[in-house]
Amino acid sequence: MGKVADGIYVIRGQDEFIPDSHTYILGEPLSGDCSLVDPGLVGKAPYKLGVLDDLGFERSSIRRVIMTHTHLDHIGCLPDILTEIPDVELWVHALEAEPLEKGDERTVYGMEMFRNMCQMQYGLKPGQFAFTVHRHLEGGETVECGGAAWEVLHIPGHSVGGIALYNPAARILIPGDVVYADYAIGRFDLHGADPSALNNSLRRLAELDVDVLLPGHNRLVNDLPEGYIRSTATQWEPHLR
Ligand SMILES: [Zn+2]
Ligand SMILES: [Zn+2]
Repeated sequence: MGKVADGIYVIRGQDEFIPDSHTYILGEPLSGDCSLVDPGLVGKAPYKLGVLDDLGFERSSIRRVIMTHTHLDHIGCLPDILTEIPDVELWVHALEAEPLEKGDERTVYGMEMFRNMCQMQYGLKPGQFAFTVHRHLEGGETVECGGAAWEVLHIPGHSVGGIALYNPAARILIPGDVVYADYAIGRFDLHGADPSALNNSLRRLAELDVDVLLPGHNRLVNDLPEGYIRSTATQWEPHLR
């Protein structure tokens, strides 16, 4: 828990019967320009905000929330975060921003059965996940966050508007749910998923120089072996057609 590298912190997901995504903080506590990447599951705002406090981040230093993608385990507690920190901006890839602004929750829930289950489990109402998105990311832009330059890569396949954040200077990759530690990848059966796009996205990530892999779930890796993402992609390629 805590500092991963200069200007990068993690609040680990606290899984229930549904997983809770890790939340990454870009920026140092006193920089006044911090970003939250993926707030996490429904109900996790008190936990995530409590850790933010413990790490010494003032609420007012959180300027924006950046979504790697908008599945429920990443965006579920965003409404509560916005209540607590009303001035933050929301940055989402355009392909998931547009449905989010229209209140189209198919990407959030991923599948109909899951929607019903979650609405019952958490007492969620239809239309709860409609937001104003302040910046529609496209992929290809570089964003300055917390004193570092992060490249935005559009990596569809797990979801239609999934992005990775890549810091080439520090060789750090935040790929959302596209690739995990231990040669695992994100599922490719939910709304907007596309196995062959996922294959292409993995190939694209395999071209990057990455030492530190900060995925949406499970283990963080500090000393990623050379060629790790490439061999993950190769292992999965037969299944991604
Ligand atoms: Zn996901
Ligand atoms: Zn996830």
